[in-house]
Amino acid sequence: METLTSISDDCPYRECDGTGLIWIKDNKENREFMRECRCKEIKALERKLRGARIPDEFKQTTINSFDINLYTKQESKERAITAKRIAGNYVKKFPLMVEQGKGLYLFSKTKGSGKTRLAASIMNALLQVHDTKENPLSIYYSPAADLLAEIKRTFGEESPVSSSDIIDAVKGVDVLILDDIGVEKVSDWVEETFTRILDYRLQHKKVTIFTSNLELDELDEKYPQGRISSRIEKMTFPVKMPDEKIRSLLAQKENEDLLDLLLE
Ligand SMILES: [Zn+2]
Repeated sequence: METLTSISDDCPYRECDGTGLIWIKDNKENREFMRECRCKEIKALERKLRGARIPDEFKQTTINSFDINLYTKQESKERAITAKRIAGNYVKKFPLMVEQGKGLYLFSKTKGSGKTRLAASIMNALLQVHDTKENPLSIYYSPAADLLAEIKRTFGEESPVSSSDIIDAVKGVDVLILDDIGVEKVSDWVEETFTRILDYRLQHKKVTIFTSNLELDELDEKYPQGRISSRIEKMTFPVKMPDEKIRSLLAQKENEDLLDLLLE
């Protein structure tokens, strides 16, 4: 038996060329046949996971529609303008960012200040611009706490996927968006799981976009071994987001728009 497929790094197991199919030649019977690679399941899982749980309100959001005027304080506006510019350039220069393995760390103390919205906008733009038939881009979005919960769900039960299936898929996606890191309940297992995922992504220059209510050194208080923040520091560019809540303003604006419609 002889494998005809040339092995590439695109396959997480290095058993196929990344297509999920392996061509094999049976020299004895002089015939060729194809079998599925182990990575095919992971790829299917990646596809299924991709963007699956992005909140509905952010499914269509774009960087252009990131409205600076939703912030009322001058300092917020300035930060938002910078963040928006970084987001736009990040998408434009994405191939360079991938080459350097650089993601983003969007942070500010205030909940609902637009971090998830901007991360989702970047994700939507990356899919629009850089996801092509020839070069499909796999993206996985998840709140950090939900990802941990999903991995835990596979323990013990008759789960169709194992915890390592999920971890492998998350390790290998081209772009990982980990929303709200730092709110999860920390244990040794949690720290070890994140370290495993981040280590792999750091080594393989896979880009990750984080959002957090914590500054990087505050993350050290949650993860006292310092392994999480040191990795994030290496793999991201920090972006300070406004410390102002816009959620309610946004709802208010939506209601005003609705009111126009209803009073038409
Ligand atoms: Zn493979």
